Amino acid sequence: MIIEPKIRGFICVTAHPTGCAANVQHQIDHVVIKGAIPSDRKRVLVLGCSTGYGLASRIVTTFGSDADTVGVSFEREPAENRPASAGWYNNRAFENRARAAGRKAVTIEGDAFSDAIKAETIEAIKANLGQVDLIVYSLASPVRTDPKDGVTYRSAIKPYGQQVTSKTLNTATGEVSEITVEPATEEEAQATIKVMGGEDWELWIKALSDAGVLADGFRTLNYTYLGSELTWPIYHKGTLGKAKGDLDRAAKAIRATHGENSANVVALKAVVTQASSAIPVVPLYGTLLIKVEDEMGLGEGPIHQIDRLFREKLQGEVTLDDESRIRVDDWELSAPMQKELEKRWAQLTTETLPALADLPKYREEFMRLFGFAVGGVDYSKDVDPRVVE
Ligand code: NAD
Repeated sequence: MIIEPKIRGFICVTAHPTGCAANVQHQIDHVVIKGAIPSDRKRVLVLGCSTGYGLASRIVTTFGSDADTVGVSFEREPAENRPASAGWYNNRAFENRARAAGRKAVTIEGDAFSDAIKAETIEAIKANLGQVDLIVYSLASPVRTDPKDGVTYRSAIKPYGQQVTSKTLNTATGEVSEITVEPATEEEAQATIKVMGGEDWELWIKALSDAGVLADGFRTLNYTYLGSELTWPIYHKGTLGKAKGDLDRAAKAIRATHGENSANVVALKAVVTQASSAIPVVPLYGTLLIKVEDEMGLGEGPIHQIDRLFREKLQGEVTLDDESRIRVDDWELSAPMQKELEKRWAQLTTETLPALADLPKYREEFMRLFGFAVGGVDYSKDVDPRVVE
């Protein structure tokens, strides 16, 4: 079939196998060209391995440090006349390339929040890796069913405590307008913490520990966004920020049980991913950030951030902030960049957007998440949606 993009709201419901495979290859090339990353952590579990920061983590550990990996993600399989999710194509493309490089790569597709998938993953670790010495937690989901009581919680990405009025962007039309978002109820805030807070991370570490598959001296990382003050009202000080704050609590609890170096939250920069494009205000900030960081020669996507995390920040004595976080958001939050972003933010209107920000590149990066707009791919070619190179 000929696969074309079909955009519905914040998501593209189709994905292209050849384009997704090319994306995976480009990320591998980025790491390989930079050379080996010294690391003793050769047995890695990546939760949320199929897209965004999780996929980049799997690629960096495999192709930078010769690690064998088990990955977990939630996907839609292809059918004869229906493409799979982008993550399904990414998983297959990654596995093919990792195995060709002599690395083990086993992927479990299902609900990582469930006890059943945790048990299946532990069996896969025992059979393929024995134990794990690095666990990357990179799940981003709007919904979680608590395995203890079967209650399903939905996150609400809203301000906390007071309503927020902010500029926002319709990425389809390029229109900049003002939105007012009402604050979350306490129930919505608690539900968001249930979904995106640290509880499931702790459950994973406990399940792995109880099963005896955590290697001595293991480390676990969980990704957060603190971000620019421009997005604080909707993000850092909102329900999502509250949930992310709960990761600091969970990291402390894991360290109390497993040792001072066992768990860290890692603060990363804003990038275009399926998760981030659904957050109000963030896409407008993203279009501005893309332009300013490119002008400053500091543009980074997920693979650049995660490469820098493993190649620089996790080598030798690891530098932590006062919440024991590792900071890779240093370039985004640097004073010159934030000053420029704030200046432009104040001037942003539908009319000034093309000069101040880079909506075309944002759109291209969004399409690329689904394997479209990838250079060198012939989209007019008939492809079998069940096959990935
Ligand atoms: P993403 O949407 O690209 O990836 C999410 C991953 O989680 C995918 O592999 C998906 O399959 C998996 N997943 C979702 N629900 C699942 C479930 N129930 N079971 C198994 N797998 C499931 O998201 P991302 O932007 O890479 O986010 C990853 C982490 O990085 C999040 O914690 C996010 O907050 C953080 N982060 C993101 C940004 C950003 O700008 N995108 C910035 C800083 C930190």
